[in-house]
Amino acid sequence: MNKKLEQRFLEEVDLLQGGNAYLRSVKNVSDIIAQESFSKEELITLLQAEGQERALLFDAAHARKIEFVGKQVYFRGLVEFSNICSKDCLYCGIRKSNEKVIRYEASDEEILGACRFAWENRFGSVVLQSGELSSPAFTERVDRLLKAIKQLSNEELGITLSCGEQSRETYQRWFESGAHRYLLRIESSTPDLYNQIHPQNVHHSFEKRLECLQLLKDCGYQVGTGVMIGLPFQTMEHLAADLLFLKKLDVDMVGMGPYIEHEDTPLYVFRDQLKTKQERFDLALKMIAALRLLMPDINIAAATALQAIDPAGREKALKIGANVIMPNLTPCDFRKEYQLYEDKPCLDEDAELCRNCLEARVEMAGGEIGYGEWGDSRRFVNRRQGSSH
Ligand code: SAH
Ligand code: SF4
Repeated sequence: MNKKLEQRFLEEVDLLQGGNAYLRSVKNVSDIIAQESFSKEELITLLQAEGQERALLFDAAHARKIEFVGKQVYFRGLVEFSNICSKDCLYCGIRKSNEKVIRYEASDEEILGACRFAWENRFGSVVLQSGELSSPAFTERVDRLLKAIKQLSNEELGITLSCGEQSRETYQRWFESGAHRYLLRIESSTPDLYNQIHPQNVHHSFEKRLECLQLLKDCGYQVGTGVMIGLPFQTMEHLAADLLFLKKLDVDMVGMGPYIEHEDTPLYVFRDQLKTKQERFDLALKMIAALRLLMPDINIAAATALQAIDPAGREKALKIGANVIMPNLTPCDFRKEYQLYEDKPCLDEDAELCRNCLEARVEMAGGEIGYGEWGDSRRFVNRRQGSSH
Protein backbone atom coordinates (compact mmCIF):
# COMPACT_ATOMS: atom_id res chain seq x y z
CA MET A 1 0.00 0.00 0.00
CA ASN A 2 1.36 3.41 -0.86
CA LYS A 3 1.67 6.02 1.82
CA LYS A 4 -1.37 8.00 0.80
CA LEU A 5 -3.62 4.98 0.57
CA GLU A 6 -2.33 3.66 3.87
CA GLN A 7 -3.07 6.98 5.53
CA ARG A 8 -6.61 6.99 4.15
CA PHE A 9 -7.16 3.40 5.23
CA LEU A 10 -6.04 4.23 8.73
CA GLU A 11 -8.25 7.28 8.82
CA GLU A 12 -11.25 5.23 7.76
CA VAL A 13 -10.59 2.57 10.38
CA ASP A 14 -10.25 5.33 12.91
CA LEU A 15 -13.52 6.84 11.88
CA LEU A 16 -15.21 3.48 11.99
CA GLN A 17 -13.88 2.63 15.44
CA GLY A 18 -14.41 6.13 16.73
CA GLY A 19 -17.86 6.06 15.20
CA ASN A 20 -18.70 2.82 16.99
CA ALA A 21 -17.37 4.12 20.23
CA TYR A 22 -19.40 7.26 19.69
CA LEU A 23 -22.49 5.23 18.95
CA ARG A 24 -21.93 3.30 22.17
CA SER A 25 -21.47 6.38 24.25
CA VAL A 26 -24.49 8.15 22.78
CA LYS A 27 -26.75 5.46 24.11
CA ASN A 28 -27.94 8.09 26.47
CA VAL A 29 -29.54 7.96 29.87
CA SER A 30 -33.08 8.11 28.51
CA ASP A 31 -32.46 4.99 26.40
CA ILE A 32 -30.76 3.13 29.22
CA ILE A 33 -33.35 3.77 31.92
CA ALA A 34 -36.04 2.12 29.80
CA GLN A 35 -34.13 -1.19 29.91
CA GLU A 36 -34.37 -3.98 32.45
CA SER A 37 -30.82 -5.20 32.27
CA PHE A 38 -27.66 -3.18 31.97
CA SER A 39 -24.09 -3.62 30.84
CA LYS A 40 -21.21 -2.29 32.91
CA GLU A 41 -20.76 0.56 30.40
CA GLU A 42 -24.42 1.49 30.65
CA LEU A 43 -24.23 1.55 34.44
CA ILE A 44 -21.20 3.81 34.23
CA THR A 45 -23.19 6.16 31.98
CA LEU A 46 -25.91 6.24 34.64
CA LEU A 47 -23.41 6.92 37.42
CA GLN A 48 -22.01 9.84 35.42
CA ALA A 49 -25.39 11.40 34.62
CA GLU A 50 -25.56 15.13 35.25
CA GLY A 51 -28.21 17.85 35.00
CA GLN A 52 -31.31 16.82 33.07
CA GLU A 53 -30.08 13.25 32.65
CA ARG A 54 -29.51 12.91 36.38
CA ALA A 55 -33.09 14.07 36.95
CA LEU A 56 -34.32 11.48 34.43
CA LEU A 57 -32.43 8.74 36.24
CA PHE A 58 -33.87 9.73 39.62
CA ASP A 59 -37.43 9.96 38.25
CA ALA A 60 -37.15 6.55 36.59
CA ALA A 61 -35.81 4.97 39.79
CA HIS A 62 -38.64 6.48 41.81
CA ALA A 63 -41.22 5.20 39.31
CA ARG A 64 -39.68 1.70 39.32
CA LYS A 65 -39.74 1.69 43.11
CA ILE A 66 -43.44 2.62 43.24
CA GLU A 67 -44.26 0.01 40.60
CA PHE A 68 -42.45 -2.87 42.32
CA VAL A 69 -42.47 -2.17 46.05
CA GLY A 70 -44.98 0.65 46.43
CA LYS A 71 -44.56 3.75 48.53
CA GLN A 72 -44.30 2.00 51.89
CA VAL A 73 -41.22 2.86 53.87
CA TYR A 74 -40.23 0.40 56.60
CA PHE A 75 -38.53 1.27 59.87
CA ARG A 76 -35.73 -0.74 61.39
CA GLY A 77 -34.84 0.56 64.83
CA LEU A 78 -31.04 0.43 64.98
CA VAL A 79 -29.38 -0.66 68.22
CA GLU A 80 -25.58 -0.45 68.13
CA PHE A 81 -25.20 -2.64 71.17
CA SER A 82 -21.40 -2.94 71.38
CA ASN A 83 -18.35 -1.34 69.76
CA ILE A 84 -15.92 -4.06 70.83
CA CYS A 85 -14.37 -5.44 67.66
CA SER A 86 -11.68 -7.99 66.92
CA LYS A 87 -11.02 -6.63 63.44
CA ASP A 88 -8.95 -3.84 62.01
CA CYS A 89 -10.69 -2.70 58.81
CA LEU A 90 -8.58 0.20 57.56
CA TYR A 91 -11.53 2.57 57.15
CA CYS A 92 -13.43 2.05 60.38
CA GLY A 93 -13.29 4.33 63.42
CA ILE A 94 -13.99 1.53 65.91
CA ARG A 95 -11.32 -0.80 64.56
CA LYS A 96 -9.52 -2.80 67.20
CA SER A 97 -6.31 -0.74 67.04
CA ASN A 98 -8.01 2.59 67.66
CA GLU A 99 -7.12 3.08 71.30
CA LYS A 100 -8.96 6.38 71.56
CA VAL A 101 -12.29 4.62 71.53
CA ILE A 102 -13.88 3.85 74.88
CA ARG A 103 -15.27 0.37 74.47
CA TYR A 104 -18.80 -0.38 75.64
CA GLU A 105 -21.34 -3.11 75.78
CA ALA A 106 -24.91 -2.01 76.35
CA SER A 107 -26.65 -3.93 79.11
CA ASP A 108 -29.48 -6.35 78.38
CA GLU A 109 -31.88 -3.86 79.95
CA GLU A 110 -30.72 -1.06 77.67
CA ILE A 111 -30.94 -3.21 74.56
CA LEU A 112 -34.31 -4.69 75.44
CA GLY A 113 -35.58 -1.23 76.44
CA ALA A 114 -34.69 0.09 72.96
CA CYS A 115 -36.42 -2.90 71.36
CA ARG A 116 -39.49 -2.39 73.51
CA PHE A 117 -39.60 1.22 72.35
CA ALA A 118 -39.48 0.00 68.74
CA TRP A 119 -42.28 -2.48 69.35
CA GLU A 120 -44.49 -0.02 71.24
CA ASN A 121 -44.03 2.50 68.47
CA ARG A 122 -44.89 -0.11 65.84
CA PHE A 123 -41.53 0.01 64.09
CA GLY A 124 -41.98 -3.57 62.90
CA SER A 125 -38.30 -4.52 63.12
CA VAL A 126 -35.02 -3.83 64.83
CA VAL A 127 -31.41 -4.18 63.71
CA LEU A 128 -28.85 -5.32 66.27
CA GLN A 129 -25.42 -4.17 65.15
CA SER A 130 -21.99 -4.48 66.77
CA GLY A 131 -18.30 -4.90 66.23
CA GLU A 132 -17.25 -8.40 65.24
CA LEU A 133 -16.58 -10.96 67.96
CA SER A 134 -16.70 -14.71 67.73
CA SER A 135 -16.25 -15.78 71.34
CA PRO A 136 -18.71 -18.32 72.77
CA ALA A 137 -19.80 -15.69 75.30
CA PHE A 138 -20.74 -13.28 72.49
CA THR A 139 -22.59 -15.96 70.53
CA GLU A 140 -24.45 -16.91 73.66
CA ARG A 141 -25.35 -13.33 74.51
CA VAL A 142 -26.78 -12.55 71.08
CA ASP A 143 -28.73 -15.77 71.23
CA ARG A 144 -30.21 -14.85 74.58
CA LEU A 145 -31.10 -11.36 73.39
CA LEU A 146 -32.85 -12.70 70.31
CA LYS A 147 -35.06 -14.93 72.39
CA ALA A 148 -35.79 -12.11 74.85
CA ILE A 149 -36.74 -9.70 72.04
CA LYS A 150 -39.14 -12.24 70.57
CA GLN A 151 -40.66 -12.78 73.96
CA LEU A 152 -41.10 -9.13 74.89
CA SER A 153 -42.78 -8.38 71.58
CA ASN A 154 -45.16 -11.31 71.36
CA GLU A 155 -43.03 -12.65 68.54
CA GLU A 156 -44.01 -9.55 66.59
CA LEU A 157 -40.73 -7.67 66.13
CA GLY A 158 -38.66 -8.69 63.13
CA ILE A 159 -34.95 -8.94 63.91
CA THR A 160 -32.01 -8.19 61.63
CA LEU A 161 -28.49 -8.91 62.80
CA SER A 162 -25.31 -7.16 61.69
CA CYS A 163 -22.53 -8.75 63.73
CA GLY A 164 -19.98 -9.62 61.07
CA GLU A 165 -18.46 -12.91 59.98
CA GLN A 166 -19.43 -15.97 61.98
CA SER A 167 -19.39 -19.74 61.62
CA ARG A 168 -22.20 -21.68 59.97
CA GLU A 169 -23.21 -23.01 63.40
CA THR A 170 -23.50 -19.54 64.88
CA TYR A 171 -25.52 -18.19 61.95
CA GLN A 172 -27.78 -21.23 62.16
CA ARG A 173 -28.23 -20.92 65.89
CA TRP A 174 -29.11 -17.22 65.70
CA PHE A 175 -31.54 -17.91 62.87
CA GLU A 176 -33.30 -20.55 64.94
CA SER A 177 -33.48 -18.15 67.88
CA GLY A 178 -35.37 -15.55 65.87
CA ALA A 179 -33.12 -13.50 63.60
CA HIS A 180 -34.40 -13.65 60.06
CA ARG A 181 -32.36 -11.01 58.23
CA TYR A 182 -28.62 -10.40 58.24
CA LEU A 183 -26.55 -7.50 56.98
CA LEU A 184 -22.98 -8.13 55.92
CA ARG A 185 -21.55 -5.67 53.45
CA ILE A 186 -19.07 -6.89 50.89
CA GLU A 187 -17.59 -3.33 51.09
CA SER A 188 -16.15 -3.72 47.57
CA SER A 189 -16.80 -6.60 45.20
CA THR A 190 -13.39 -6.13 43.56
CA PRO A 191 -10.92 -8.34 45.43
CA ASP A 192 -7.96 -5.99 44.77
CA LEU A 193 -9.80 -3.00 46.16
CA TYR A 194 -11.12 -5.07 49.09
CA ASN A 195 -7.54 -5.98 49.91
CA GLN A 196 -6.44 -2.35 49.72
CA ILE A 197 -8.92 -1.33 52.39
CA HIS A 198 -8.32 -4.26 54.74
CA PRO A 199 -5.21 -5.60 56.46
CA GLN A 200 -3.56 -8.45 54.60
CA ASN A 201 -4.26 -11.37 56.91
CA VAL A 202 -6.61 -14.30 57.32
CA HIS A 203 -8.97 -12.30 59.50
CA HIS A 204 -9.78 -9.96 56.63
CA SER A 205 -10.22 -12.25 53.67
CA PHE A 206 -12.42 -11.44 50.69
CA GLU A 207 -13.10 -15.13 50.11
CA LYS A 208 -14.25 -15.60 53.70
CA ARG A 209 -16.62 -12.66 53.31
CA LEU A 210 -18.15 -14.20 50.21
CA GLU A 211 -18.39 -17.55 51.91
CA CYS A 212 -20.26 -15.96 54.83
CA LEU A 213 -22.78 -14.39 52.48
CA GLN A 214 -23.43 -17.82 51.01
CA LEU A 215 -23.71 -19.41 54.47
CA LEU A 216 -26.30 -16.82 55.43
CA LYS A 217 -28.35 -17.63 52.35
CA ASP A 218 -28.07 -21.34 53.05
CA CYS A 219 -29.34 -20.83 56.61
CA GLY A 220 -32.48 -19.16 55.24
CA TYR A 221 -31.80 -15.52 56.14
CA GLN A 222 -32.87 -12.63 53.99
CA VAL A 223 -29.44 -11.40 53.13
CA GLY A 224 -28.37 -7.79 52.84
CA THR A 225 -25.05 -6.55 51.64
CA GLY A 226 -23.60 -3.38 50.17
CA VAL A 227 -20.55 -1.29 49.49
CA MET A 228 -18.97 2.00 50.44
CA ILE A 229 -19.02 4.67 47.78
CA GLY A 230 -16.17 7.09 47.18
CA LEU A 231 -13.39 4.97 48.69
CA PRO A 232 -9.80 5.86 47.91
CA PHE A 233 -8.64 3.99 44.77
CA GLN A 234 -12.24 3.34 43.73
CA THR A 235 -13.26 3.97 40.11
CA MET A 236 -16.59 4.11 38.28
CA GLU A 237 -15.75 0.65 36.90
CA HIS A 238 -15.48 -0.69 40.43
CA LEU A 239 -18.88 0.75 41.34
CA ALA A 240 -20.56 -0.56 38.20
CA ALA A 241 -19.03 -3.96 38.96
CA ASP A 242 -20.45 -3.70 42.49
CA LEU A 243 -23.93 -3.20 41.10
CA LEU A 244 -23.58 -6.23 38.84
CA PHE A 245 -22.21 -8.22 41.77
CA LEU A 246 -25.30 -7.42 43.87
CA LYS A 247 -27.50 -8.54 41.00
CA LYS A 248 -25.56 -11.74 40.47
CA LEU A 249 -25.63 -12.63 44.16
CA ASP A 250 -29.38 -11.99 44.01
CA VAL A 251 -29.48 -10.35 47.43
CA ASP A 252 -32.70 -9.37 49.20
CA MET A 253 -31.53 -6.10 50.69
CA VAL A 254 -28.85 -3.55 50.09
CA GLY A 255 -27.44 -0.88 52.35
CA MET A 256 -24.80 1.28 50.77
CA GLY A 257 -23.59 4.75 51.50
CA PRO A 258 -20.72 7.15 51.09
CA TYR A 259 -17.33 6.33 52.56
CA ILE A 260 -16.47 8.99 55.11
CA GLU A 261 -12.92 9.32 56.34
CA HIS A 262 -12.06 8.99 60.03
CA GLU A 263 -8.88 10.58 61.31
CA ASP A 264 -7.88 7.68 63.56
CA THR A 265 -7.77 5.15 60.74
CA PRO A 266 -4.99 4.17 58.31
CA LEU A 267 -7.01 5.18 55.23
CA TYR A 268 -7.04 8.78 56.46
CA VAL A 269 -3.69 9.40 54.77
CA PHE A 270 -5.49 9.23 51.43
CA ARG A 271 -8.00 11.92 52.33
CA ASP A 272 -6.61 14.35 49.75
CA GLN A 273 -7.33 11.87 46.97
CA LEU A 274 -11.01 11.57 47.77
CA LYS A 275 -13.90 13.11 45.92
CA THR A 276 -15.53 15.90 47.91
CA LYS A 277 -18.13 14.75 50.39
CA GLN A 278 -20.84 16.32 48.26
CA GLU A 279 -19.61 14.36 45.23
CA ARG A 280 -19.57 11.13 47.22
CA PHE A 281 -23.08 11.86 48.43
CA ASP A 282 -24.29 12.50 44.90
CA LEU A 283 -22.62 9.35 43.63
CA ALA A 284 -24.27 7.35 46.41
CA LEU A 285 -27.68 8.64 45.31
CA LYS A 286 -26.93 7.61 41.72
CA MET A 287 -25.83 4.16 42.91
CA ILE A 288 -29.14 3.77 44.74
CA ALA A 289 -31.11 4.91 41.69
CA ALA A 290 -29.20 2.61 39.34
CA LEU A 291 -29.64 -0.29 41.75
CA ARG A 292 -33.40 0.27 41.93
CA LEU A 293 -33.53 -0.01 38.13
CA LEU A 294 -31.38 -3.13 38.18
CA MET A 295 -33.10 -4.87 41.13
CA PRO A 296 -36.58 -3.37 41.33
CA ASP A 297 -38.07 -5.64 44.01
CA ILE A 298 -35.40 -5.62 46.72
CA ASN A 299 -35.27 -3.56 49.91
CA ILE A 300 -32.82 -0.68 49.77
CA ALA A 301 -31.87 1.16 52.96
CA ALA A 302 -31.28 4.87 53.14
CA ALA A 303 -27.85 4.61 54.84
CA THR A 304 -27.09 6.68 57.91
CA ALA A 305 -23.82 7.85 56.33
CA LEU A 306 -25.90 9.87 53.85
CA GLN A 307 -27.19 11.87 56.78
CA ALA A 308 -23.66 12.61 57.99
CA ILE A 309 -23.12 14.61 54.79
CA ASP A 310 -26.59 16.07 54.27
CA PRO A 311 -29.13 16.36 57.11
CA ALA A 312 -31.89 15.42 54.64
CA GLY A 313 -29.74 12.74 53.02
CA ARG A 314 -31.87 9.76 53.98
CA GLU A 315 -35.04 11.43 52.76
CA LYS A 316 -33.38 12.23 49.45
CA ALA A 317 -32.51 8.55 49.12
CA LEU A 318 -36.12 7.57 49.88
CA LYS A 319 -37.26 9.85 47.12
CA ILE A 320 -35.23 8.13 44.47
CA GLY A 321 -35.21 4.44 45.30
CA ALA A 322 -34.65 3.50 48.94
CA ASN A 323 -37.58 2.05 50.95
CA VAL A 324 -36.06 1.33 54.37
CA ILE A 325 -34.89 3.75 57.04
CA MET A 326 -33.09 2.91 60.26
CA PRO A 327 -33.91 5.38 63.04
CA ASN A 328 -31.15 5.16 65.62
CA LEU A 329 -32.29 3.75 68.98
CA THR A 330 -28.79 3.50 70.48
CA PRO A 331 -28.64 5.44 73.76
CA CYS A 332 -26.90 8.75 72.99
CA ASP A 333 -24.05 8.20 75.47
CA PHE A 334 -22.97 5.16 73.50
CA ARG A 335 -23.36 6.82 70.11
CA LYS A 336 -20.29 8.99 70.69
CA GLU A 337 -18.30 5.78 70.93
CA TYR A 338 -19.81 4.22 67.81
CA GLN A 339 -18.21 6.64 65.38
CA LEU A 340 -17.48 4.46 62.36
CA TYR A 341 -16.72 7.68 60.49
CA GLU A 342 -16.41 11.38 61.30
CA ASP A 343 -19.52 13.53 61.75
CA LYS A 344 -21.69 10.46 62.32
CA PRO A 345 -24.87 12.14 63.47
CA CYS A 346 -25.64 11.91 67.16
CA LEU A 347 -28.89 13.74 66.95
CA ASP A 348 -31.12 14.59 69.79
CA GLU A 349 -32.81 11.26 70.44
CA ASP A 350 -36.23 12.79 70.95
CA ALA A 351 -36.10 14.68 67.67
CA GLU A 352 -34.81 11.66 65.76
CA LEU A 353 -37.56 9.45 67.13
CA CYS A 354 -40.44 11.91 67.31
CA ARG A 355 -43.25 10.15 65.53
CA ASN A 356 -44.68 13.27 63.89
CA CYS A 357 -41.27 14.37 62.62
CA LEU A 358 -40.53 10.92 61.23
CA GLU A 359 -43.88 10.82 59.51
CA ALA A 360 -43.47 14.31 58.09
CA ARG A 361 -40.02 13.51 56.73
CA VAL A 362 -41.14 10.28 55.09
CA GLU A 363 -44.22 11.97 53.63
CA MET A 364 -42.10 14.77 52.23
CA ALA A 365 -40.17 12.08 50.38
CA GLY A 366 -43.44 10.76 48.90
CA GLY A 367 -43.52 7.73 51.20
CA GLU A 368 -45.91 6.17 53.67
CA ILE A 369 -44.72 4.38 56.82
CA GLY A 370 -45.45 0.66 56.96
CA TYR A 371 -46.22 0.64 60.70
CA GLY A 372 -45.98 -2.65 62.53
CA GLU A 373 -44.88 -4.59 59.45
CA TRP A 374 -41.71 -6.58 59.03
CA GLY A 375 -41.46 -5.20 55.52
CA ASP A 376 -39.76 -8.26 54.07
CA SER A 377 -38.06 -7.80 50.77
CA ARG A 378 -40.47 -8.42 47.85
CA ARG A 379 -37.61 -10.17 46.16
CA PHE A 380 -37.42 -12.71 48.99
CA VAL A 381 -41.18 -13.27 48.96
CA ASN A 382 -41.27 -13.56 45.16
CA ARG A 383 -38.39 -16.00 45.13
CA ARG A 384 -40.03 -18.16 47.78
CA GLN A 385 -43.25 -18.22 45.86
CA GLY A 386 -41.27 -19.22 42.79
CA SER A 387 -42.51 -16.22 40.87
CA SER A 388 -39.26 -14.29 40.67
CA HIS A 389 -38.91 -11.83 37.85
N1 SAH B 1 -18.92 -5.07 62.42
C1 SAH B 1 -19.99 -5.27 61.52
C2 SAH B 1 -21.06 -4.21 61.62
C3 SAH B 1 -20.61 -2.82 61.98
S1 SAH B 1 -19.77 -1.93 60.74
C4 SAH B 1 -19.48 -5.36 60.11
O1 SAH B 1 -18.37 -4.90 59.84
O2 SAH B 1 -20.19 -5.92 59.27
C5 SAH B 1 -21.10 -1.60 59.61
C6 SAH B 1 -20.69 -0.94 58.33
O3 SAH B 1 -20.20 0.36 58.57
C7 SAH B 1 -19.57 -1.61 57.59
O4 SAH B 1 -20.02 -2.69 56.83
C8 SAH B 1 -19.03 -0.48 56.71
O5 SAH B 1 -19.54 -0.54 55.39
C9 SAH B 1 -19.56 0.78 57.40
N2 SAH B 1 -18.43 1.70 57.69
C10 SAH B 1 -17.37 1.46 58.48
N3 SAH B 1 -16.50 2.49 58.42
C11 SAH B 1 -17.03 3.38 57.55
C12 SAH B 1 -16.60 4.65 57.04
N4 SAH B 1 -15.43 5.19 57.41
N5 SAH B 1 -17.40 5.29 56.17
C13 SAH B 1 -18.59 4.76 55.80
N6 SAH B 1 -19.05 3.58 56.23
C14 SAH B 1 -18.27 2.89 57.09
FE1 SF4 C 1 -15.08 -4.02 63.13
FE2 SF4 C 1 -17.14 -3.84 61.39
FE3 SF4 C 1 -15.51 -1.74 61.89
FE4 SF4 C 1 -14.54 -3.80 60.52
S1 SF4 C 1 -16.23 -2.43 59.87
S2 SF4 C 1 -13.50 -2.76 62.20
S3 SF4 C 1 -15.60 -5.48 61.51
S4 SF4 C 1 -16.91 -2.73 63.30
